[in-house]
Amino acid sequence: MNMLYDVIIVGLGAVGSATAYQLSATNKKVLGIDQFQPPHTLGSSHGDTRITRQAIGEGRHYVPLVLRSHQIWRELESKANIELFQACGGLIFGTNLNNAPVHGSLSFLEVTVAAAKEFGIEHQVLDCQEMQKRYPQFHYQGTEIGYFEPGAGLLKPEKCIKTQLKLAKENGVELQLNQKVVSIEPNSNNDGVVVKTNTDTWEAESAIIAAGAWVSELLPESYKKFFKAYRQIMLWFEQELPYETVSPEHCPIYIRLGETAEELFYGFPGIDGEHGGIKIGIEQFFDDCTVDTIDRNVSADEIEQCFKQISKHLKIKNNCIKSAACLYTVTPDYGFVLDTIPGHPQILVASPCSGHGFKHSATIGQILTELALNQKTDFDISAFSLSRFSL
Ligand SMILES: Cc1cc2nc3c(=O)[nH]c(=O)nc-3n(C[C@H](O)[C@H](O)[C@H](O)COP(=O)(O)OP(=O)(O)OC[C@H]3O[C@@H](n4cnc5c(N)ncnc54)[C@H](O)[C@@H]3O)c2cc1C
Repeated sequence: MNMLYDVIIVGLGAVGSATAYQLSATNKKVLGIDQFQPPHTLGSSHGDTRITRQAIGEGRHYVPLVLRSHQIWRELESKANIELFQACGGLIFGTNLNNAPVHGSLSFLEVTVAAAKEFGIEHQVLDCQEMQKRYPQFHYQGTEIGYFEPGAGLLKPEKCIKTQLKLAKENGVELQLNQKVVSIEPNSNNDGVVVKTNTDTWEAESAIIAAGAWVSELLPESYKKFFKAYRQIMLWFEQELPYETVSPEHCPIYIRLGETAEELFYGFPGIDGEHGGIKIGIEQFFDDCTVDTIDRNVSADEIEQCFKQISKHLKIKNNCIKSAACLYTVTPDYGFVLDTIPGHPQILVASPCSGHGFKHSATIGQILTELALNQKTDFDISAFSLSRFSL
């Protein structure tokens, strides 16, 4: 078969844009396709900010990914002359009762501290008194302990995506936007792929499925059940304290652990000035939805409930300035998938979500590039195989 492209990337969100950027540094012919015009607000990568931290409480195997990503964000910043990553520091804290699993990790705080020690990541373990002095943004019970990482901070997801797509395009990657891929099939010799939208057909040596919450639509039937989508909400509340106290110069990103997964909340400093509010997020993993059935509005009841829960711990006013709904894609063990489709080494799939994928996405772009072109990578991705789930 006469291959038109070396690689086709399906989905140009966090992962797809990172892959397009990485592939653009090779001399390969690459096509990226998205059903919308990324960055957009219908997937998993909107809402102004994402947390990044280096010692990963979800598991030490994620640490090399985030460390490399931090290098790539800085490289992108200097190439595009834009700020993507603000290292305002990161605080993870809670009492010893706040030990509900976080993204599948049963001892999130302990794993975080152990990973920091193992990888030599600068950090401090703080008692409640010290946190009270340093972080007056919170109400404390008196028994909290905390982990502070000065190199953690926030990423600007829409800008990361836009920048990577812009550089990829400048380097020769072709982009087809507003085109929904309806099928990705191996060719008749099983040595290439045929990618179809309703109007076009393209052929390539390999394809990468980076479709976020839509991933199951493009997978063989037997794998669909391993990917569920969960609606999550983000809220921007007016701060109680003077703006300066919640500005990135004085306020880190934070994760306040809970007794249940639903009690956990995370948040950011105020990045939009005095009247922009401070963004917080909560998580839920009991009510799954689909990209078509998700309710994209946040109700007044949800806002009220959130305020009640969070104002116990964070100094905010009962004034929600902005809200948004977003999607987590979650696998049975909350881990990522970075693999080929069994029997079809030319079709790769990447699903790095469960609420913590953005920080790793730049490196995942590099890994997918290496896998697509060389069928191997130096990163250890054994924990992210599809075959860990039994069919
Ligand atoms: C509320 C919320 C908070 C989060 N907080 C954090 C955080 O603080 N830190 C962190 O590291 N991570 C966080 N995450 C997770 C992180 O944002 C995601 O892991 C990451 O953005 C997922 O990127 P993606 O490329 O897989 O999906 P997306 O960015 O959604 O991209 C998928 C793309 O595929 C396209 N597509 C899908 N199907 C097709 C098709 N058939 N044809 C063409 N195009 C298609 C879509 O249009 C979309 O553009 C959070 C997620 C949410 C929802």
